[in-house]
Amino acid sequence: MVGVSILGSTGSIGKSTLDVLARHPDLYKPVALTANTDVDTMYQQVMDYQPDLAVMADPDSAERLRTRLHAAGSHTRVEGGVAALAAAAAHPDADQTMAAIVGAAGLLPTLAAVNAGKRVLLANKEALVVAGEIFMSAVRENQVELLPIDSEHNAIFQCMPADYRADGSHPGIERILLTASGGPFRELPEDQLHEVTPAQACAHPNWDMGRKISVDSATMMNKGLEVIEAKWLFGVSPEHIQVIVHPQSIIHSMVQYRDGSVLAQMGNPDMRTPIAHALAWPSRIDAGVEPLNLFEVAHLDFEAPDLKKFRCLELAYRAAEQGGTAPAVLNAANEVAVQAFLEHKIGFMQIAEGIDKVMQQLPVAGAASIDELMAVDTETRAVTEQVLAGLVH
Ligand code: NAD
Ligand code: MG
Repeated sequence: MVGVSILGSTGSIGKSTLDVLARHPDLYKPVALTANTDVDTMYQQVMDYQPDLAVMADPDSAERLRTRLHAAGSHTRVEGGVAALAAAAAHPDADQTMAAIVGAAGLLPTLAAVNAGKRVLLANKEALVVAGEIFMSAVRENQVELLPIDSEHNAIFQCMPADYRADGSHPGIERILLTASGGPFRELPEDQLHEVTPAQACAHPNWDMGRKISVDSATMMNKGLEVIEAKWLFGVSPEHIQVIVHPQSIIHSMVQYRDGSVLAQMGNPDMRTPIAHALAWPSRIDAGVEPLNLFEVAHLDFEAPDLKKFRCLELAYRAAEQGGTAPAVLNAANEVAVQAFLEHKIGFMQIAEGIDKVMQQLPVAGAASIDELMAVDTETRAVTEQVLAGLVH
């Protein structure tokens, strides 16, 4: 029986993970679940799956969960606070840890799983964006199996040579073709982007996701974060990663080889496919996903991204090239700007405007330690609040 710890179990990826696990009760057991404040969902998950440990990052939420579970006679231990997330990530009965907390908040718990030697199923792309170099050296030191959950990176992983190493030493590879759906505003004229609402931004045409990543998809910052994620996972420099808009989201990404071959991974857009792939790798298990019907799909289209309209993508390439603390600044500024947009405090186009200003204001330094990166994250959030307050809405 494989024990699985799920960080962020109440979110979109967390729920899809439990859905796949529930199809294979003979193979997998959820041993620890974590969330931030969603007590109702966590209560139901604990009652359904009876893990050993449930953690709420928010201590008040932990208290409420504990009271309700106690009244229901549950044996699950409940802990509260950010430090307890690391205990869930490194739970002694967990063989695998699904890292599906959203944002830089997922970095330390995910690193705790790496340092405990767990197989890490990585959905939390922000962890790699903020601390790619340190994260990947911890993966190497602990000889951890790191399996990408992001659909594009999972596709690339499946198309890579079996013996690839994340140090860039694969002479046969020409480049990575990173596909993007283009988000809900792909066809909207640029002058109408100013008026779009959070509800429109969160209505993704192909994927059902959390609100932060949905807005990131609408600005295409998501693809920018994924360029940085791919750079660290596969040791490929940003100029060898080409973003291709593919509106049907059937091809999840490709690897182009020197000999002219292009390998693609295809499937219906359903995150249970990469989740099941990573859980069972190198085997294959049922994911509950509809088989792909290419007659129904009929067409696969490709176009170049519009960098003028989607400025966030260009900002992310800039941060990737600058390196050091630049991606941590990009990420923190983006998290604050997206939250402000979701709260109707700034307009859609001001997300990129704000991040650009913050990146120009903050100097780029070497990223020496996790503590330094966390300090950069905190400082950037404060600077971004000021910058956004100064933008005319
Ligand atoms: P979500 O918002 O649906 O869920 C986030 C989870 O993290 C919830 O369980 C929430 O309780 C927890 N959380 C939020 N803030 C926290 C904090 N400060 N401390 C501790 N826990 C916290 O997000 P999601 O869509 O499931 O995405 C999760 C991660 O997976 C993100 O990094 C996202 O980029 C990545 N990802 C998601 C998808 C998708 O289809 N949803 C696809 C690819 C990658
Ligand atoms: Mg993705």
